[in-house]
Amino acid sequence: MDFFSYRNGQLFCEDVSVADIAAEVGTPVYIYSSATLLHHYRALAESFAELSPMICFSIKSLANLQILKLLAEAGSGFDVVSGGEVARARAIGADCARIVYAGVGKTDKEIREAIAAGIGLFNVESEAEFENISRLAGEAGKAVRCALRLNPDVYDPRTHTYTATGKKETKFGVDIERAVAFFGAYGHDDHARLDAIHLHIGSPIYSAQPYVEAITKTLDLMGRLAGEGFTVRTLDIGGGFAADYDAGASPLASEYAKEIVPLLRGRGLEVILEPGRQIAANAGLLLTQVQYVKAGGQKSFLIVDAAMTDLIRPAMYGSEHFVWPARLSDPSAEPQRRIDFAAPAGQKVDVVGGVCESTDFLAQDRTLPVMGRGDLLAVFSAGAYGFVMSSQYNSRPRAAEILVEGAKWRVIRPRETYEDLFATEVPSLLTKAIGFPADNSKD
Ligand SMILES: *Cc1c(COP(=O)(O)O)cnc(C)c1O
Repeated sequence: MDFFSYRNGQLFCEDVSVADIAAEVGTPVYIYSSATLLHHYRALAESFAELSPMICFSIKSLANLQILKLLAEAGSGFDVVSGGEVARARAIGADCARIVYAGVGKTDKEIREAIAAGIGLFNVESEAEFENISRLAGEAGKAVRCALRLNPDVYDPRTHTYTATGKKETKFGVDIERAVAFFGAYGHDDHARLDAIHLHIGSPIYSAQPYVEAITKTLDLMGRLAGEGFTVRTLDIGGGFAADYDAGASPLASEYAKEIVPLLRGRGLEVILEPGRQIAANAGLLLTQVQYVKAGGQKSFLIVDAAMTDLIRPAMYGSEHFVWPARLSDPSAEPQRRIDFAAPAGQKVDVVGGVCESTDFLAQDRTLPVMGRGDLLAVFSAGAYGFVMSSQYNSRPRAAEILVEGAKWRVIRPRETYEDLFATEVPSLLTKAIGFPADNSKD
């Protein structure tokens, strides 16, 4: 569900024509709908309301400060995975007690900073990490709270192996037997209070079933731990709730809640959710302009000004995003947002960027309306793991980010300039480089 729609054949984000934004700020550009972000945040909050969960938006999915501010104002806490993300949360004045910190490789520097900031919960992935956090908390003269990340050996076969994190052989968390020993060894630590369990089984998870399995195993474990005198007060069930990449293919927040809430109600547990993509994915699109149409060979290509450097998900995970022109020549021909939706009398194309890699594609084998040079193409559901994974590879300045609220829009990150590409490289050659001398040979 999102607030992107066609009006008289023109694509709008809420009440703003995306072509108007492109005319002012150029392309490629990420355009986010604040109403869509808030809709999905509230849908989760309302669906799980019976458990009064703490919802911690996963910063890594969409990290722009203005987005984080919007969600914090709606009541969100944050899930972080690095010192940089702690810094982002602090930059918007987030309540650090409502931050949960995951990640297998937290450095001493990051842990010290997080302890000083007063992070609410460290999600601990190994014995060595727990001992380190306890030591650093002791040195700082503070006590911190920890959740043990459990690897329940559960996964959704439809989740890409690169983003499945709840299988036994992944690097994340510890298995159930090891968890019992973990509490035995560390359950009475003075500096790091271990009284919570963390799950994050992968992303996206296309049904409630894997959560049900993982939570059921965890409740069973909690029973065993109680028998040994360890009370688990908090259960963080992680993120991974799917987004609508393909219309109607993913459960709604309420459909996950329908299965999960009954397992957890009445247990007096504090429940934490860490959604990223379910809030952010459908709230953003990547708008790009067709540079060239290359037809006539084995395949036809739409060569656009966005590339894998702007949206790497297709190259990295084989992810499929719905793509469609921002202007329809026949205003009555609105697309269904399905990956396999074909335009009548369309052309079959691959949508590719200009980067020197064969993996540089945004979509493959799609039947789109006939497009030409200068036309705008929208890559939908790109709000999560879009801009945040972009790079400057091939010395391509990163795209602009725009936030729309009703009929208003504003730049929340300007397009990078050539100077931005090398401004921090020392010693600075900036004054020379930006001069672009007319005759390079004399330089
Ligand atoms: C990435 C991540 C999330 C968010 O995943 P989504 O699929 O975006 O919901 C939540 N928790 C942890 C620990 C993560 O690493």
